[in-house]
Amino acid sequence: MAASGTLSTFRLPPLPTIREIIKLFRLQAAKQLSQNFLLDLKLTDKIVRKAGNLTNAYVYEVGPGPGGITRSILNANVAELLVVEKDSRFIPGLQMLSDAAPGKLRIVHGDVLTFKIERAFPGSLKRQWEDDPPNVHIIGNLPFNVSTPLIIKWLENVSCRGGPFVYGRTQMTLTFQKEVAERLTANTGSKQRSRLSVMAQYLCNVQHILTIPGQAFVPKPEVDVGVVHFTPLVQPRIEQPFKLVEKVVQNAFQFRRKYCYRGLGMLFPEVQRVESTGKLLELADVDPTLRPSQLSVSHFKSLCDVYRKMCDEDPHLFAYNFRELKQNKSKTQEKEDDKERDRL
Ligand code: SAM
Repeated sequence: MAASGTLSTFRLPPLPTIREIIKLFRLQAAKQLSQNFLLDLKLTDKIVRKAGNLTNAYVYEVGPGPGGITRSILNANVAELLVVEKDSRFIPGLQMLSDAAPGKLRIVHGDVLTFKIERAFPGSLKRQWEDDPPNVHIIGNLPFNVSTPLIIKWLENVSCRGGPFVYGRTQMTLTFQKEVAERLTANTGSKQRSRLSVMAQYLCNVQHILTIPGQAFVPKPEVDVGVVHFTPLVQPRIEQPFKLVEKVVQNAFQFRRKYCYRGLGMLFPEVQRVESTGKLLELADVDPTLRPSQLSVSHFKSLCDVYRKMCDEDPHLFAYNFRELKQNKSKTQEKEDDKERDRL
């Protein structure tokens, strides 16, 4: 227990409920924007507790909406909370919260996909990468179609220590469709193991900390929701450029049910495919008959290290992209088909 008188704890004054705020400001969820709100403050408190100790923290909340999670963060005794919300209808309700928490809540009407958090908090918060994580946290319940591209972007930022990671190993607590949360945290060999599992786990310690049933949201989404906590690792488990890792992992998972050599082969142009795939697997000491889901992060580390060497030896190799080629081919085929139809 804290010694009495040493800490001043902040609590929001009594406020209208989130349901009342929604009514007051006519904040009906926009279905096309996949808005699903959390109204139960016990649940939002639980999510915020799972994010870790936020005392004196600088928190970046993405997509605050009517402000349920926002209230719980403010009640966690943070130093400052910066919220970025795209839908202008929510700004007056958030302003009301800001008035109730003087000097604590900064509201930005903007898009999390482009907002530059790296300049938003004091530089004095910065920690060395090897140190404990800084007192900077990201928390958010975003629409699913935003949270997945955003986590890919932030994982790339982790790899080059940019964006929110200029402060050090900033921790993130984010919601995803439960199935995506399971993929992010899936172990080697499990059914959910996918591209996302490897990309997240080579850079971060990833934990599925909570599952929230769909009924907890208004309106109820079609799926349950998983809350995932990310802490960037001091030492990434693969030390190669993000784009190279992404390419190897993406190709490996291209044919999920086939042996891994099939997808990995697509890293190479057809004329050299058999030979180069054999060389890659042999030098990386990876059994070609493993399925993509059976490849561990250390298998991927060896594959990426060898592929990097092969790219260094052949400067055209990295630019080779089978998927792009396939897409272009099918576009050309479509054009040919159109011409053929016109002729008939
Ligand atoms: N956090 C609130 C809650 O838990 O009740 C709202 C959740 S709702 C699923 C997602 C929120 O993110 C909405 O308020 C929506 O307007 C906002 N949002 C969606 N895309 C966004 C973007 N690109 N940038 C900022 N906010 C966004």
